Amino acid sequence: MSSYMQNWPLNVGRILDHVARFHPNRAVISRDTEGGISTGTWSEIHHGAKQVTQALRALGVGPGDVVGVMAWNTARMLKVWYGVPGAGAALHTLNPRLFAEQLIYVINHAQDKVLMVDFDLAPVIAAVRDQLTSVEHVIVMTDQAHMPQMENVICFEDWIGAHDGDTDWEKVDETAACGICYTSGTTGNPKGVVYTHRSNTLHALTSQSPDMLGLRSVDRMMPVVPLFHANGWSTAYSTPMSGASIAMPGNDMSPAGLYEMLEQGVTITAAVPTVWLGLLQYLEAEKKELTTLKRVVIGGSSCPRAVIEAFQDNYGVQVMHAWGMTEMSPLGTICTFKPEVVEMNASAQLDVQETVGHPPFGVDLNVVDDDGKEVAWDSNAQGRLMARGDAVVDTYLHEPKSAIDAQMWFDTGDVATMDPNGYVRITDRSKDVIKSGGEWISSIDLENYAVGHPDVIEAAAIGIPHDKWGERPILVVVAKEGSTPDKTSILDHVAKYVAKWQIPDDIVFKDEIPHTATGKISKLTLRKILDDDGYALS
Ligand code: ADP
Repeated sequence: MSSYMQNWPLNVGRILDHVARFHPNRAVISRDTEGGISTGTWSEIHHGAKQVTQALRALGVGPGDVVGVMAWNTARMLKVWYGVPGAGAALHTLNPRLFAEQLIYVINHAQDKVLMVDFDLAPVIAAVRDQLTSVEHVIVMTDQAHMPQMENVICFEDWIGAHDGDTDWEKVDETAACGICYTSGTTGNPKGVVYTHRSNTLHALTSQSPDMLGLRSVDRMMPVVPLFHANGWSTAYSTPMSGASIAMPGNDMSPAGLYEMLEQGVTITAAVPTVWLGLLQYLEAEKKELTTLKRVVIGGSSCPRAVIEAFQDNYGVQVMHAWGMTEMSPLGTICTFKPEVVEMNASAQLDVQETVGHPPFGVDLNVVDDDGKEVAWDSNAQGRLMARGDAVVDTYLHEPKSAIDAQMWFDTGDVATMDPNGYVRITDRSKDVIKSGGEWISSIDLENYAVGHPDVIEAAAIGIPHDKWGERPILVVVAKEGSTPDKTSILDHVAKYVAKWQIPDDIVFKDEIPHTATGKISKLTLRKILDDDGYALS
């Protein structure tokens, strides 16, 4: 007894076909790289994506090939997002903030055959072009009027304009490569994660579901998180799949620029905490309101309680704290309320919102101790967070060995606790854990409590060697502009929330804290800076 139902491969082109057929006029609002905000439709994106597919085929690109793309979130990027896998090739997203050596490494490693680049980012590619071993064509994503003075490049609008958009997506297996995203690789070379059509489709299905993003056709999503970071948090798939409209913020990440875009009817948005810290300061200083926004997804780093409170109490915007990683396509958990949490009082609910929530169908999680045994779900026992599922990495690109164990668990490198209701709290990266007198101190907790001090804008907790305790925490702090908080007031503030032995031994003030290309605190660089300052860190 088998094959009673139709067996459609889960190819991502079907997502765009669906939205173009049943929600054709839902808006695609875009801050274009050339300047100005344009309004188009999903139907136009569908047509443009098909033109990209045809144009790629004309260049000889097809199944097995890789196309690199370095671009901001714009309507044009959406055409490329679907046009490349539509031709059967894999879309390799490139982060313009990578160091030149890393950029050269990832393009050569993935064997990109064609590169597409926004015109304002074209110099980044021009600077490394003679070191790229596989690239045959460079396409600048603009019109003739904005083409940079570069040799041997193709103008995107002319290139796709030569085609009529009347074609079928390439018929590739649902397990064929669809997208490639490299993890930032704080140590060693970046590692390539290859998403398949199937993993992207299944991941979008589950991440748009009601207890996750809860996307509906009446929503307008604005992914502030760049599509080149961690699969764009799946938003470029989950949004059209649900029939929602989309707003693309382009290359203007300033709080004023984001605010202008949010006020284009955006109901839900997503980005890392630092983006929202900037926006909240702007809203406060300029006395602005958020007139349409209802939900904000915050992940990529831990979201401080102060940010959750500010959005919810001052602007009536519900915060959805999320956790994930490039290797997980990327959403692992989102904090929405199960019945047990709905019944809690407001302050207990806020405590829950500091956790990263619970996983959707398709993501299985386990927190294990050093012997690999599952820890108790008691909010207390910490362990390594393991993940497996339909959209979790098995093997990195061109790596001979699989990245998972015999039970298919992938070690996320994060340390976490579980509460009795199945909510995950991320306490650390395993490499950042501070161990004092044999006990773990959560650097994330210390950082979040410090940021709760009114004069602190950013904080990083670091373990420094200690004769008696093994390690002791110190906090590196960036003070709010114009304020000069003293050490004691910050330590007193942190002391309200942690046990006495967890209070940091010292505070070091800095003008800024170094970040990685994906906006995370770079503890490696910070340690080097502190080392140079005379802190005995090694
Ligand atoms: P990168 O390329 O910078 O490593 P990822 O997005 O893949 O980018 O990073 C994933 C890591 O980010 C996770 O393993 C975790 O350490 C951290 N992270 C993501 N979301 C959260 C969160 N809500 N709280 C704490 N850490 C988070």
